[in-house]
Amino acid sequence: MRLLHFFLVLTISCAAYSQQMEIGLFHNKKISQVKIVPVKGDYELYGDTTFLSTIIQGEEITIRNSGNSVSAELKDSAYRGFGELKLIPKINNSSLRYTIAGAKSRLYKDGALFKASKSLLKIINLVTMNNYLSGVIESEGGGGKHIEYYKVQALMSRTYALKNLKRHSKSGFQLCDGVHCQAYHSELRYTPTINEAVLETEGKILVDSSNKLVTTYFAANCGGETCDASFVWNTSVWYVQPFIDTFCMSTRQAKWTKKIKKTVWKSFIEKKYGVFEKDLGEWFYNFEQEQRKAFYIHPSIGIPLRDLRKEFRLKSTFFSSSLEGDYVILRGKGFGHGVGLCQEGAMGMANSGYNYDQIARFYFNGVRVLDYYKDVFFQQESE
Ligand SMILES: [Zn+2]
Ligand SMILES: [Zn+2]
Repeated sequence: MRLLHFFLVLTISCAAYSQQMEIGLFHNKKISQVKIVPVKGDYELYGDTTFLSTIIQGEEITIRNSGNSVSAELKDSAYRGFGELKLIPKINNSSLRYTIAGAKSRLYKDGALFKASKSLLKIINLVTMNNYLSGVIESEGGGGKHIEYYKVQALMSRTYALKNLKRHSKSGFQLCDGVHCQAYHSELRYTPTINEAVLETEGKILVDSSNKLVTTYFAANCGGETCDASFVWNTSVWYVQPFIDTFCMSTRQAKWTKKIKKTVWKSFIEKKYGVFEKDLGEWFYNFEQEQRKAFYIHPSIGIPLRDLRKEFRLKSTFFSSSLEGDYVILRGKGFGHGVGLCQEGAMGMANSGYNYDQIARFYFNGVRVLDYYKDVFFQQESE
């Protein structure tokens, strides 16, 4: 066991520190060219392994796909016919502005790799883990939050990134910049506290009792009770058992209501599940959910609440319903799937004086925060 632990820790530590992150940018767009400007620091341009030119701060360079290769055009020179082009920063914390047709320009720290992919161009940000995490936390969570909340987000996002390094390996990078992985729409720009949170939790990851990286589920607001993972994905995850969360109950997204036309509700349920209003009477519309349930009306009828959430675009599955005139009125709690960390609850805990370790262990049962600098040292000493 100890040997296994040591091996796991060492593998993660190599992955996280010797290797820079490779993030696919503008992942959902079809791109054939991009304009790049270094906005901070100078860069070196390489074609495959050959040094081509220094790109000084403020200078514009256009990179495009030309058949099966990539080319770079500067003001008075051009380089063509490379399998890949790379921009390597000369100093730390340099950044580039990326502009593609039909989208807002974006800024990202560190280097970049450009590859041809059929008739398109792949843009990959080569970025340190810390700079990547700062960008993710600002893109996902915005500004103005308590530092312990940012620290717990840093812990979750670092754990997620390390667990999913191979998610896009077929596309030639590790993670994408969209919500499919973790939203990463810019370098950190407005919230210096996020940078502090990332640095203060550097090397910290969340592992389960077998020292495996935890799947860091999170959602905006659990509505006062977290959700069993099996209600959402059909598989139970032991470290996210449902429990009462009092930290998120009075926030902005704690409650919601929605009116749906009775005819629309009726028609969906009758057609999809073969369950009829004439057989059930008032039970067809009146549903109470004091504690989280998986099914509408009764489990034996087989209407998963997650189906209703998807069909009617509900904020959560945690609602009760009643009939009022021609409408079904839904009164709901929370926002999101409700599994794992509740972001508004975590903010509430941070504001009440809990630290990030306590917050993480409140939402994930029986897990621990591992410091793998310290753990590698400790394990090496004890082997
Ligand atoms: Zn992705
Ligand atoms: Zn909550």
